[in-house]
Amino acid sequence: MALPLVWLADVLRGAGLHVVETPGWRERTSPYAGALPWEPVGVLEHHTATTASYERPAPTVDLCVRGRPDLAGPLCHGVIGYDGVVHLISAGRANHAGQAKASGPCPAGDGNTLYVGFEWDYQGVNQGPSPEQYAAAVRATRAVLDHLGLSAEHARGHKETSVTGKIDPGRVDMTLFRAAVASGEQELDMATTNELFDLVRRYSGGDSAFGYTIPRSPDRVRTFAAAIPPKFGRVTGTDGELFVSLVAGENVEVREVYACEDWQADGKPGRKYGLQGPYTLVANDRQSWPIPAAATQVCVVYRSDCDLSLSVEIDAKWK
Ligand SMILES: [Zn+2]
Repeated sequence: MALPLVWLADVLRGAGLHVVETPGWRERTSPYAGALPWEPVGVLEHHTATTASYERPAPTVDLCVRGRPDLAGPLCHGVIGYDGVVHLISAGRANHAGQAKASGPCPAGDGNTLYVGFEWDYQGVNQGPSPEQYAAAVRATRAVLDHLGLSAEHARGHKETSVTGKIDPGRVDMTLFRAAVASGEQELDMATTNELFDLVRRYSGGDSAFGYTIPRSPDRVRTFAAAIPPKFGRVTGTDGELFVSLVAGENVEVREVYACEDWQADGKPGRKYGLQGPYTLVANDRQSWPIPAAATQVCVVYRSDCDLSLSVEIDAKWK
């Protein structure tokens, strides 16, 4: 009998992805006993922890086929390369998830039975995913969930289901990722400013802003990084359409506020954009800065006896 996920190739190609079928993927399944993923409840996203580049975009394909000394292959269903190409590894059971706790609408259980698993080939701590890779992951996840009749909420990160403290996919905000899956990356590629703001509104639950709580850090200087909507700069190319604001209930010593990007279009490390040097945030006084178009994160370096609030909001002139 055919393995349960043999439809992956057609479904992913149908979504416009570049798909490479590794030899034997349709018959490849874990030798461990246990049910196959006959009725997956979602898609689980991972990073491989291996540094990739446009020159070497999918270095772990062989490892994901063969496995490691401590864990038999296959290790996922598909590897998504740094260049956005999807390499199919297995149509059966893959050892990618381990035991899973409940996450969003998805139940707890044997993650290898519950989820279709994509490994994004990038390092995850010092390296974020490339724009092509992120876009391919959005598109692939959307295509699989559509095929299964599941909503974008069924896209989960290993860091959300792991019972052993996994951090993957690193440098990816899963809430923003699900918003991109829900809205459709193809539209985002050619989004207008209004469409981008729709994304912000959806992410915030209807408002034109969404917020982060920055935890107090009375004893040492900390850096807090907040994600902003994916591919913002690539979508609109204009500074100042989104603002970040900082407010706190007490005076706070802010050392620096800056924006940065995870990557540049040519794969070089992301640049840093200074927004604010050292200053005292006076209690209840709101301080705002426009976000550079290319930025994917905003970072606040601070020491504070109280929590701070950071909000990302639409430029007033667009509301
Ligand atoms: Zn993982």
